[in-house]
Amino acid sequence: MTLRIAVLPGDGIGPEIVSQALRVLDRIAQRYQVHFEYREALVGGSAYDATGHPLPPQTLEICHRSDAVLFGAVGGPKWDTLPPSLRPEAGALLPLRKALGLYANLRPALLFPALAGASPLRAEVLGEGLDILVVRELTGGIYFGQPKERRDDGRTAVDTCIYTEPEVERIAHVAFRAAKARHKKVASVDKANVLETSRLWREVVSRVAQDYPDVELQHVLVDNAAMQLIRNPRQFDVILTENMFGDILSDEAAMLTGSLGMLPSASLGEGTFGLYEPVHGSAPDIAGQGVANPLATILSAAMMLRYSFGMGEAAQRIEQAVDAALREGYRTADIWQEGCRKVGTIEMTDAVLRYL
Ligand code: NAD
Repeated sequence: MTLRIAVLPGDGIGPEIVSQALRVLDRIAQRYQVHFEYREALVGGSAYDATGHPLPPQTLEICHRSDAVLFGAVGGPKWDTLPPSLRPEAGALLPLRKALGLYANLRPALLFPALAGASPLRAEVLGEGLDILVVRELTGGIYFGQPKERRDDGRTAVDTCIYTEPEVERIAHVAFRAAKARHKKVASVDKANVLETSRLWREVVSRVAQDYPDVELQHVLVDNAAMQLIRNPRQFDVILTENMFGDILSDEAAMLTGSLGMLPSASLGEGTFGLYEPVHGSAPDIAGQGVANPLATILSAAMMLRYSFGMGEAAQRIEQAVDAALREGYRTADIWQEGCRKVGTIEMTDAVLRYL
C-alpha cells in the first residue's frame, strides 16, 4: 500500500522537527509493510523568499494530490513586516486550511505521567493523568462571518457570528465518532443563554447525539467550561465547540499539560484527508541549534496514522514509545527537570525509536 504524504517543513525549527517525525514514520513503514511517499513542498517565510508567496500554487497542488499533510511551523521576525496576506501564518496556514476544507481541528491535551511536574495544576487535581480531546470547528463562526468591517469613520467595528445547520452537524459527528473510540463522553460547549448561534448549535448537537446512543452528551456554558477545566479537568473526555470558544479553550487545556513542545494536532475535512502539525510555532529563538523538542511533531504523525490511514495500533505504539522515552528520563531542554538526561532533537528521536 502506498500512502502519499505532503511534507511541509516551513520555517524556524520546522525542518528540524519534521525530519525527525519522518524517521519515525520510516520505522512504522518497515514494521507495517506500507510505503509512505513523501512529497516535500515550500510553505511560509521560506516559500516567500523562494517564490514571492508563502503558499505557492505548487504547494497547494501537492497537498491536493496527497492522502495527508505533515506540517512543521511557519513564521519568524524576518517576515513580520510583510503585508498580512504575505505573512507566513495569515498568508499560508489559514488559506491552506480553507483551501483543503479542513473544518475540524482536533487537539488532544494529554499529560504524560512522567511530565506531571510540568503541569500548573496540583497533583491531587490531576489524579492519574489527563486525556482530553478538544474538537474545534475551524472554518465558521465569528472568524469568518460577514460583514466584518469598520463603520462610522473607523470608530465602530462589526464582526458577525454565523453558523448553519450542516456546519454544526458535520463537526458534531466528528466529535461523537472520536468519543466512541475513547471514553464515550462529549461535552458540547456553547453560550446558549445569550447567543442565537449557540441555541442552534445546542439543538443540532442534541439531534446528532441520537445517532450515538452509547455516547453521553452534556451541554456546558463556555464560562463554566473554562472554570471546570481548571477545577476538575478529569471530568472531560471530548470537548466539542465552535471556532472562537475552541481557540481559547484548546489553549487552556493545552496549558494544563504544561508543555507546548509536546502537543500535536490534526485538522480534518471530509473523508480521511487531514493536516497534522504541532501546536507550537517555529520557535525562531532556538532554530538551528538542534535542541527543539520533536515530540509534538512525532505525535502529530501518530495522529495522521490514526485518523487518515486507519493505523490506530501503529499510532498507539508511537505514543507508548514517547511515554517510555520520557519515563526513562530523556528530556529536551524545554521539558528538562533535575535528575533527567538532557538530549537534543535527534537524540530524543533516537530514544523514541529505541522503544518503538
Ligand atoms: P512558538 O511556539 O514558536 O515559541 C514559544 C516558546 O516556546 C519559545 O520560547 C520557543 O523556543 C518554545 N518552543 C516552541 N516549540 C518548541 C519546541 N518544539 N521545542 C522547544 N521549545 C519550543 O511561539 P512564538 O514565539 O509566539 O512564535 C514564533 C513564530 O511562530 C511567530 O512567527 C509565530 O507567528 C509563529 N507561529 C506559527 C504557528 C504555526 O505555524 N502553526 C503557530 C504559532 C506561532
